[in-house]
Amino acid sequence: MRLITGNEYELKIESIASDGRGVGHIDRIAVFVPFTVPGDTAIVRITKILKSYAEAEVIRIIQSSDKRRLPPCPLFYECGGCALMHMEYNAQLEEKRSIIENAMRRIGGFSNFHLDKMIGMDEPYNYRNKMVFHAGTVDGKTVFGFYAPKSHKVIPLKSCITGNSLNAKIVEAITEYMDEMSIQPYDYDLKRGTIRQIFIRSSKKDGSIMVVIVTGQSKLPVINLLTDKLKKAVPEIKSIILNINKDKSPHSLGKVNKTIYGNDYIEDEILGITFRISPQSFFQINPTMTEKLYKEALLDIKPTDNVLDIYCGIGTISLIAAKTAKKVTGVEIVPQAVKDANKNAKLNGITNASFFADSAENLVPHLIEKGERPNFIILDPPRKGSDKETINAIIKAAPERIAYVSCHPATLARDAALLSRGGYEIAAACGVDMFPHTAHVECVVLMSRK
Ligand code: SAH
Repeated sequence: MRLITGNEYELKIESIASDGRGVGHIDRIAVFVPFTVPGDTAIVRITKILKSYAEAEVIRIIQSSDKRRLPPCPLFYECGGCALMHMEYNAQLEEKRSIIENAMRRIGGFSNFHLDKMIGMDEPYNYRNKMVFHAGTVDGKTVFGFYAPKSHKVIPLKSCITGNSLNAKIVEAITEYMDEMSIQPYDYDLKRGTIRQIFIRSSKKDGSIMVVIVTGQSKLPVINLLTDKLKKAVPEIKSIILNINKDKSPHSLGKVNKTIYGNDYIEDEILGITFRISPQSFFQINPTMTEKLYKEALLDIKPTDNVLDIYCGIGTISLIAAKTAKKVTGVEIVPQAVKDANKNAKLNGITNASFFADSAENLVPHLIEKGERPNFIILDPPRKGSDKETINAIIKAAPERIAYVSCHPATLARDAALLSRGGYEIAAACGVDMFPHTAHVECVVLMSRK
């Protein structure tokens, strides 16, 4: 059967792709269909044919998979933030397990690869400690919500079931203040208006909340009215900050922060280490699962270890490792993150960790060349994975153990294959569901020298 764009076909969905779309086959060609679930049989219309696969949309479901459920969020089909909310949670976990195992088998060549476990959340809602609401206008009224895909049109939403349930009260209080003071939301198309975003962070440790109001102007009128409304609505608020962003970019925070109430930071804790978080700091967005992930990565850490933590960010894993290990060295490309790592080390009285601001590919070969011999190496690279220079330097350093933490199974599989050729074998592997209902999945692979 030859596929033709615009034609309709019956398709049985077999699996989930790494972006969350369902995948089936027509005449051995993979067809990717959003909003489908493995086990569904659907009539689909082909929207695009590419070299090695095709894309399609659902016309109707003929037989619904027993893994399918009514998405608990009414905006699931419009938002695009969660790709798997129409699947039972246990089925999501099983699919994520398959994504990791298939990548390790097909790309990595580990033909018998099997995850020891796939750790899910007991309560897979309200897990995000950070949420951004964009300002906009609908029917002449100020609203906050998220952008419809590829546009600046705001779809109103005061709270998201993956975030803190107190967010709605914060959004309502700020909207009320704007209405009373006739403050306009910023319009990116007209380049007019004042308030752009509300950025909310919460601490798992003590429930404290930071509210950052992103505005194009450095002053807001009758600021006490705003802070009073917020404090009254949500007493957990311990920090209110104006972030001044006069830029055209709608997505980022500006550089200047003005604290209008409380502290200019909140604190959170991961495995006994305190982190001080300011508006611009990077911090893991699901602290509950971050703890589980790091516990797996540090399963085998020993008091005699000399640890190298590559791609260390603000030193989260490094500082936890430093509680047990003899010495820890962190490498991270973003200088501000390294500053935060040093501050966090001080805050926790840790003196056996040091951090370098440089790229892994530059610094790691140099450190090994100079004779540094870590016996335990941790890598937690971004989605594109590590690179040949870094991997070769790791092999040259010949540590006893490696913990590879990954947010992208395909690049993990590629890099693990290189390490395996360099003399390492897989000792343990586990998946961790850091972002329930999205297609993202984290994984830890522990390797040891053969
Ligand atoms: N381990 C940290 C952060 C992991 S995210 C934590 O758990 O919090 C990956 C980190 O790699 C980011 O902080 C990013 O800035 C950094 N990074 C990206 N490319 C890099 C490179 N080439 N060399 C070093 N660090 C890099």
